[in-house]
Amino acid sequence: MQLPLLFEKLKWPEIEKMIQEDGIRTIVIPFGPVEEHGPHMGLGVDYIRPQEVAIRAGKKLPFFIHPTLPVGVLNKSRSFPGSVSVEPETLTNLMTEIYNSCKLWGMKHIIFLSGHGGKRQTPYTDELVEKLNKKSSDAAIYCIVVSDLNREEQEKIFNRDNAIHAAEQETSEMLYVRPDIVEMDNAVAEFPDVEKIQDHTTARDHWKSGVRGDATIATREKGEKIVGLQVKGLIEFIENLDKI
Ligand SMILES: [Zn+2]
Repeated sequence: MQLPLLFEKLKWPEIEKMIQEDGIRTIVIPFGPVEEHGPHMGLGVDYIRPQEVAIRAGKKLPFFIHPTLPVGVLNKSRSFPGSVSVEPETLTNLMTEIYNSCKLWGMKHIIFLSGHGGKRQTPYTDELVEKLNKKSSDAAIYCIVVSDLNREEQEKIFNRDNAIHAAEQETSEMLYVRPDIVEMDNAVAEFPDVEKIQDHTTARDHWKSGVRGDATIATREKGEKIVGLQVKGLIEFIENLDKI
């Protein structure tokens, strides 16, 4: 068996054999929105984050990896060019349908791995997970944000106040996994008043760069440690799953 088990390269008879003979019953679905990440990073940060963590963990542990979904729910950043948001119900419907599909051919642990959190997304995905897990004992659904994997350890490497959005944490991560989408010459520090940017139609009047925190202090070395902790966290999570 050649790891990682990426769906884009696997054929169905191979998948069937891995399920039946090797007992692989876990799938990870990386997802995250297309969203502005400051003047110094490309729009893919939030879906690249979970994808890179899944692939790195998947090189050490056998589980299936679904192609990454570039989808998520945004709030404050929606008026920046390039940002794309779906409504919370669209995301939870999509997750439900993917969960139902994977359940049909034998998955027992269906893990949605997000590169994005936020108040317009996380309460809805948490509610969905609770609802579906109450309904079915055949398979379990999970939704994890990469920043929450080994969170306390991660926060020893960067300062949370410097790292709200497109700042120290995410920029460091990208310098490690995808330096080609980062231009450190354009990195800035900005601390907008969070109350004033809640309404996305006027947010840009109070928020110049799209960065919240300090992106200038990001380094590849910090990124390597942060991503390493996320990968370790995902491996531990999967290893500790109950046998259903
Ligand atoms: Zn982000």
